[in-house]
Amino acid sequence: MRMDVPTLYGLTVGTLCLAVAMTLWERKAHPGRAGPLGIWASAYAAFALGCMVMMNRSSLPGVLGMALTNVIMVTGYLLVLHGAIRLDGRGRPLLLTLPLVAISVVWTEFGARYGDAFWQFGGSLPILLVSFATAIVLARSRALKGLRSRPLAIAVHLVHGLFYLGRFAVMPFLAEAFGPEALALSAKITMFEAVLYSVAMPAAFLALVREEAQDRLLAASQTDYLTGLGNRHAFFERGAALMRDKNALTLLAFDLDHFKSINDRHGHAAGDEVLKLFADVARAGLGSNAILARLGGEEFAALLPGMGANEARPLAEALCRSFAMEAAKAEGLAIRATVSVGLAEREPERPDLQRLLSAADQALYRAKSLGRDRVEAAAPAIARAA
Ligand code: GH3
Ligand code: MG
Ligand code: MG
Repeated sequence: MRMDVPTLYGLTVGTLCLAVAMTLWERKAHPGRAGPLGIWASAYAAFALGCMVMMNRSSLPGVLGMALTNVIMVTGYLLVLHGAIRLDGRGRPLLLTLPLVAISVVWTEFGARYGDAFWQFGGSLPILLVSFATAIVLARSRALKGLRSRPLAIAVHLVHGLFYLGRFAVMPFLAEAFGPEALALSAKITMFEAVLYSVAMPAAFLALVREEAQDRLLAASQTDYLTGLGNRHAFFERGAALMRDKNALTLLAFDLDHFKSINDRHGHAAGDEVLKLFADVARAGLGSNAILARLGGEEFAALLPGMGANEARPLAEALCRSFAMEAAKAEGLAIRATVSVGLAEREPERPDLQRLLSAADQALYRAKSLGRDRVEAAAPAIARAA
């Protein structure tokens, strides 16, 4: 394969300019990530500028061309790192500026003293350090936890860092053994890798931001806006997985009593507060293992993994009591509000969630007809069949 260094430079600059445009475009679609995307776009612009200065370095006096190229490039890498740190809402511009000032001084001083050899090898050190730091920041980021594209973004920076580690550690020996030919080949390989990096890095960052937005949309589509609980969709999706579990499982179906008259008497806004209050009381009363959801209107359901009907009943009764108590004493509310509960335990031979919910619903109707504010259990199918 024939590779011409100026062509590779041109290709890298073109790719980076495209990356700036695409990242700025994507920034409009993700206002929540405008910070990191803007920082990364300026990093790509810095890399493109660095390449252009590098291509024209001979027209600048003395070591200025090389020193300027190196400082601009390191600025680009520090901006990439800064953008990654900003993903978690942090960001320490001073910590990123200090290494830059130090590098500028060292580069100009040592560059003038040792010439090309220094740029060839020493220049790799900050690049490999900042690339590894970026990989570490991405690996530890809380915001990126669980994203499928995170390992990709980490790998891009890890591989880039390893490439420059190789340059830093091996090139001095190769240069000594094979002379300028080794340096010329190294320049070609370096620019070839630069083309790949300037495609892979922006693509990996865009993938991260898009996947994050997609996950947020998915979560919103499964959340009830008023109470913050899961909605019907979430209940059936999470519940279906539990139904196949070997341990005991009980479903509670809740329906707030005379809710229409609460709305009529106290207003819709007060009704909303009662719904939120019930969600809070149920969340606290049923514990974090329960899958609790608002199925619609004033109807809620909970799946209690590891619990049979005998254990679930006192829990449901306690919840009825505490809901009535909290509603009566809630600040600015002080309403008489109660809930009726239907309870059904899953039978291992009938692992169908819709059926289990219907059984609990029937028990709930019985609770309503027996006077409300109570818990009624569905009769097991074997008992019903007898
Ligand atoms: P029952 O004890 O038999 O369950 O009587 P109920 O009045 O609770 O039952 P019904 O189904 O007649 O009324 C439910 C009411 O819930 C009607 C509807 O306006 C109200 N509702 C449904 N969703 C909301 C909501 O998001 N906010 C408020 N405030 N009210 C709601
Ligand atoms: Mg109802
Ligand atoms: Mg009701």
